[in-house]
Amino acid sequence: MNFRMTITENLKTISSELPEHVTLVAVSKTKPIVDLMEAYNAGQRVFGENKIQEMVDKHEQMPKDIEWHMIGHVQRNKVKYMADFVHLIHGVDSLKLLTEINKQAQKHKRIINCLLQIKIAKEDSKFGMSPDDALALVKSEDYLNLNNVCITGVMGMATFTDDMTQIEYEFNTLKSTYDQLQTISNERTNWQTISMGMSGDYKLAIDCGSTMVRVGSSIFGSRNYSN
Ligand SMILES: *Cc1c(COP(=O)(O)O)cnc(C)c1O
Repeated sequence: MNFRMTITENLKTISSELPEHVTLVAVSKTKPIVDLMEAYNAGQRVFGENKIQEMVDKHEQMPKDIEWHMIGHVQRNKVKYMADFVHLIHGVDSLKLLTEINKQAQKHKRIINCLLQIKIAKEDSKFGMSPDDALALVKSEDYLNLNNVCITGVMGMATFTDDMTQIEYEFNTLKSTYDQLQTISNERTNWQTISMGMSGDYKLAIDCGSTMVRVGSSIFGSRNYSN
């Protein structure tokens, strides 16, 4: 007997559990187009990828009413490949990167929405800015001059651990960082998104104030990186 649920069933279960104000990003990295199309046919329109080239390839092959989210670490020299279609870039962690996104967005006469990635985890391997650096960036004259980007929120990744108390502490840190940032309002900000929570911790994340969860393996099954 096979107890493995289908992508359609997984999506239905997860979507039905999410409060209305929470957006589900289906994280489809490493998964083949047929899997993404199953999710699409089940009604999913928001997909997240962590590699720009893979997202570009999938964007070319899939229906054009999909919102593509870049959730991974962004290399500046690759921003140009996604600048014409990306819906939201979650992993922005410097003014230098924002400046490049702005330059490429300008070429396509677009405004690209971005989230500031805040480092909330204890692990050194995780990217992100400190809350203080994020506050300084949003207030800076240099940022206000970037007319083709808009910061719409924050993103964070908790420490990879089973310790839910630790994860909750880190989620609360992200929420309070967002609350502080939200007091800064200018023409280059439009506060609306706290992107936190993955397959293992999205329920806790929602309890801590998340408005956008990034769920991969609970929808598509576990990933195989060896092929
Ligand atoms: C892979 C990934 C996810 C999804 O992880 P799952 O545990 O499979 O849900 C979420 N966020 C980021 C940034 C990721 O790279």
